[in-house]
Amino acid sequence: MAITYELFKTCKQTGARLGRVHTPHGSFDTPTFMPVGTLATVKTMAPEELKSIGANIILSNTYHLWLRPGEDIVEEAGGLHQFMNWDGSILTDSGGFQVFSLSDMRQIEEEGVHFRNHISGAKLFLSPEKAMHIQNSLGSDIMMAFDECPPYPASYDYMKSSVERTSRWAERCLEAHQKPSEQGLFGIIQGGEYEELRKQSAKDLTSLDFPGYAIGGLSVGEPKDVMNRMLDYTTPLLPDNKPRYLMGVGSPDSLVDGAMRGVDMFDCVLPTRIARNGTCMTSNGRLTVRNAKYARDFTPIDENCDCYTCRNYTRAYIRHLIKANETLGIRLTTYHNLYFLVKLMDEVRNAIREDRLGDFRDAFFEQYGFNEPNAKNF
Ligand SMILES: [Zn+2]
Repeated sequence: MAITYELFKTCKQTGARLGRVHTPHGSFDTPTFMPVGTLATVKTMAPEELKSIGANIILSNTYHLWLRPGEDIVEEAGGLHQFMNWDGSILTDSGGFQVFSLSDMRQIEEEGVHFRNHISGAKLFLSPEKAMHIQNSLGSDIMMAFDECPPYPASYDYMKSSVERTSRWAERCLEAHQKPSEQGLFGIIQGGEYEELRKQSAKDLTSLDFPGYAIGGLSVGEPKDVMNRMLDYTTPLLPDNKPRYLMGVGSPDSLVDGAMRGVDMFDCVLPTRIARNGTCMTSNGRLTVRNAKYARDFTPIDENCDCYTCRNYTRAYIRHLIKANETLGIRLTTYHNLYFLVKLMDEVRNAIREDRLGDFRDAFFEQYGFNEPNAKNF
């Protein structure tokens, strides 16, 4: 088995899990946050910098690498790890989410999805077999099954037929996967906001015995309480001895809320995307360092943070760099935001170890400002 999971303990206060996932490129402790490197790069960060932050696994996007530079070139380079000089673990998605979110011209058939390239407009076709072929060529440690990602909200009837198709596609993915001893394939539970369909999806996919399971179709615009309710409902349906991955979730509050509900892995472009707009996650909430009020503020972004950025640079300097479009500015905010989330997950794991994740959540939400009326998600 390419991917195995060890469960160390469950938090007595919340049910959160402390564990470790083993991959062909090393192990990582869970719950964990995975930085996103869409085009085989976590924008502005060198692999050594990601390592120095404490990141052991990153995510890369199949759809984007298929279009640019093409999976054949990555394979010729010796695979994604070699191509991008990253010796830690890599998870690739299936391309499904991008097909459904980036392309407005698409046609779903049993065989797969016809759509247009979001860059050139050329006609393309992606299927379970094709998604497996591309991910086998990329050589990621964890691959994702090709699924349908319906929008929110979707009707019960639509969601039902979509869940059934996703289960049939999952079987085809398992059959098409050429390297099960080198790469682990995760199944994806869908079902939107419908408990009955989540149950059906979990039943179908766990019967196929994947080495890990993702919970998909959340963080697609639904209210936060719907996401938490679906997690409360879905995680108990999944086996204890396999990792669970909540796709596309990366706001600090959702990471803590997801971990409390038994999720082990998370990913999101949020910390890196907002960093490029000069927005930082700090222990006292969100800080937009571009703002004029920081022009003469010679303190660090977060006084409670000991990252490279906060130890060496001031708000005034970083604001100046970003206003002047100097790339060092967004490198420094990206570094800080990723460090903030990696550190947050360290604290979450410590709290699980000591059976106090519920107390940690209350204190963290209070200090970050999530309890205030109209609090933003990050
Ligand atoms: Zn910092």
